[in-house]
Amino acid sequence: MSAQIIDGKAFAATVREKVAGHVARLKEEHGITPGLAVVLVGEDPASQVYVRSKGKQTVEAGMNSIEHKLDADTSEEDLLAIVDQLNNDPAVHGILVQLPLPGHLNEDLVINSIDPAKDVDGFHISNVGLLGTGQKSMVPCTPLGCLMMLRDHHGSLSGMDAVVIGRSNIVGKPMAQLLLGDSCTVTIAHSRTKDLPDVVRRADIVVAAVGRPEMVPGDWIKEGATVIDVGINRIERDGKNKLVGDVDFASATERAGAITPVPGGVGPMTIACLLANTVTACCRANGLAEPEGLTA
Ligand code: NDP
Repeated sequence: MSAQIIDGKAFAATVREKVAGHVARLKEEHGITPGLAVVLVGEDPASQVYVRSKGKQTVEAGMNSIEHKLDADTSEEDLLAIVDQLNNDPAVHGILVQLPLPGHLNEDLVINSIDPAKDVDGFHISNVGLLGTGQKSMVPCTPLGCLMMLRDHHGSLSGMDAVVIGRSNIVGKPMAQLLLGDSCTVTIAHSRTKDLPDVVRRADIVVAAVGRPEMVPGDWIKEGATVIDVGINRIERDGKNKLVGDVDFASATERAGAITPVPGGVGPMTIACLLANTVTACCRANGLAEPEGLTA
């Protein structure tokens, strides 16, 4: 069996198209342009690439992109003052503070200072609580992208056995909540899980969010299962730099029914979902109908 490849790049393009269509309607019918503010502190190279990419895609979708690039030694007080200013700016509908922050800044404090209604990353404690209790929230972008691809592939996920490997606050835990919300029977695995291969072999859906290159071999995968590989790992192979996931793609495609590749799977969906969350936040702020299919 050779698995169907779930093309995240193509799927992300359709999400961005939907977002752009909705943005155009918001402008035309209501004179509103959604605005996304991104705050970057310091010069982490990976963060700079993400922020550039976010800004570019925000503008391409027809939205306003506001960027605050701050020195690495910015004080907590100054950063909180910028977040406060963005919270009170009616032209800003989404605020994202790029993580990780330099060590002297308290990430929890900063994230929880964002207005939850503008928290397009979905990391504010209020949004975490709303998601956990099945209420309308802002949903973290990467798990939202995974859910969209799973729903698109399967239609209903009801009753399926799902295993999420990884329990981080940004991927593993919200992913598990979303799958539970779609009536999967969910297992969350982590570094202390006993007999991980056996746990994974029982799953109809495997979401791997670990950060260990090709850790999940094909013989852990149940025949026909759907595999969503969130991992992004840079390795050197045959003298070349390569991006690989947490799943061994070559052997997993022999067993899985469907699988996301790395790159070109979950990665592109993350920014697409950030744009989707910004439009959703803008609609909610203005008491307008939310676009369909762009949130959980
Ligand atoms: P974290 O490091 O925060 O979490 C990793 C999780 O994996 C932890 O819960 C850890 O368990 C678990 N883990 C580690 N080793 C093992 C093991 N041997 N067996 C089982 N579980 C293990 O990572 P993130 O959640 O932030 O990211 C995970 C991956 O996803 C990374 O590769 C990251 O780059 C990628 N990523 C991709 C995104 C995208 O847009 N595609 C977005 C965000 C992340 P424990 O809690 O016990 O330590």
